[in-house]
Amino acid sequence: MSWENNIRKVVPYVPGEQPVGEDIIKLNTNENPYPPAPGVEAALREVADEYAIMRKYPDPDAGLLTHALSDFYGVPEESIFVGVGSDDVLAMSFMTFFDSDKPVLFADITYSFYEVWADLFRIPHKLIPLRGDFSIDPESYMQLNGGIVIANPNAPTSLYLDVSDIERIIAANPDSVVIVDEAYIDFGGTSALPMIDKYDNLLVVQTFSKSRSMAGARVGVAFGSPKLIAYLKDVKFSFNSYTMSQDAIRIGAAAASLSDRDYFEDVVRRIIATRDDATARLRAMGFKVIDSSTNFLFVTHPGHRASDIFEALRERRIYVRYFNKPRIDDHLRITVGTPEEMESLYTALADILGA
Ligand SMILES: *Cc1c(COP(=O)(O)O)cnc(C)c1O
Repeated sequence: MSWENNIRKVVPYVPGEQPVGEDIIKLNTNENPYPPAPGVEAALREVADEYAIMRKYPDPDAGLLTHALSDFYGVPEESIFVGVGSDDVLAMSFMTFFDSDKPVLFADITYSFYEVWADLFRIPHKLIPLRGDFSIDPESYMQLNGGIVIANPNAPTSLYLDVSDIERIIAANPDSVVIVDEAYIDFGGTSALPMIDKYDNLLVVQTFSKSRSMAGARVGVAFGSPKLIAYLKDVKFSFNSYTMSQDAIRIGAAAASLSDRDYFEDVVRRIIATRDDATARLRAMGFKVIDSSTNFLFVTHPGHRASDIFEALRERRIYVRYFNKPRIDDHLRITVGTPEEMESLYTALADILGA
């Protein structure tokens, strides 16, 4: 069939399973086990009351949301770009900022969507190997490139690179846009956000999906110099002006409001406490567990194959993530759930490991 020669082909990103049904323990896609902030519930009720707004196109600038974000982070509105989850924000950023013949650099083990977008948009790219302990070597980003993407903390490794090393990478690459994907920054580490004033080639991307418990609402955000954000908006408005629904804009604005800050910080504290407890519990069962700066753990067991543990947990309706990829095919990524969910995990693991 000759038309098949003329179409764009890509190997798609494979998201984690979203199983349906009762009594499933879902620790495979880094969702937050706690509900979103109370303001979100109130905003949802308002949305339901005003079904007539569906008639109109949403605000293409998502003004309510950028305004709330501006207040929350103390960043001017012209430095803020929002989208349908950070996946949308990142895809737009790849399209906008990476148009060089030189390769865009990102780690060999990182968010696997980066390689998919690079392929999709025909962006030359080069995988930069993490060190043997999965840490990032900042020096390896000091080579000719057409752009840089770093997830910090990184996924699925859960490791945080000190923000001073992030700064060294940005400072050494003034001729490239450097994207720092901070999907997990609220769970550990220091954000590069304040550096957008100093480096006009820095884009910091964050999401409401993890720390703010709103994966289903699809809200993502990028912060950068007004110049960078203006270029991003040019591409976005040339592609689709109305990506975010008015509901998502309103719900996102509620979640970003200062009044919900205490709730948000409390949820993050609880997850960190459960994470640190889980690290100790899993180590006591013989797992090697990387010190996590995220809401998930990256683990391996010297005595059992990760794929076997994955299958055995799945039979018990406990879902974790297994990546059949070089260097990490004997690891599991386990999202931090509630303390109760984690107890069920430990019980199942004790059974599987025969402890
Ligand atoms: C979860 C995740 C994202 C995407 O999240 P959205 O739900 O699209 O906002 C982006 N980057 C990393 C590293 C992630 O883990």
